[in-house]
Amino acid sequence: MLSNTLSIIEIVIQNKLNKKVDEDNLINFLKRYKKNMWLYPGVIKRKYNLSIAETYDFLNELEKQGILQSYYELYCSSCQKSMGTIRLFNELPETFECELCNEELQTLKNSFLIYKVIRDD
Ligand SMILES: [Zn+2]
Repeated sequence: MLSNTLSIIEIVIQNKLNKKVDEDNLINFLKRYKKNMWLYPGVIKRKYNLSIAETYDFLNELEKQGILQSYYELYCSSCQKSMGTIRLFNELPETFECELCNEELQTLKNSFLIYKVIRDD
């Protein structure tokens, strides 16, 4: 990510995570992300010791600002295999089958939101 995007992120950090994270450290971390790379909320949550709500609140705001786009990643909770991503909630199937263990999985219990970088200028 380059300066235009990073200056927007800086404002979002100040608004959403003020004093909860080391701003320079988080900016430096996000700098490495380029367009079309996936950003996993769990990484941010662990690295900056945030709650799930704080993490999604921050990433959701970056989506509103046009920097990230959210996708549902389907995964098998038995073998941790990722079964791909789906853009919209209403496109989610009710269930899907794991191609490794062939288990029939409930989508809502076996998916989570991840974010794709769509702007990095
Ligand atoms: Zn499986």
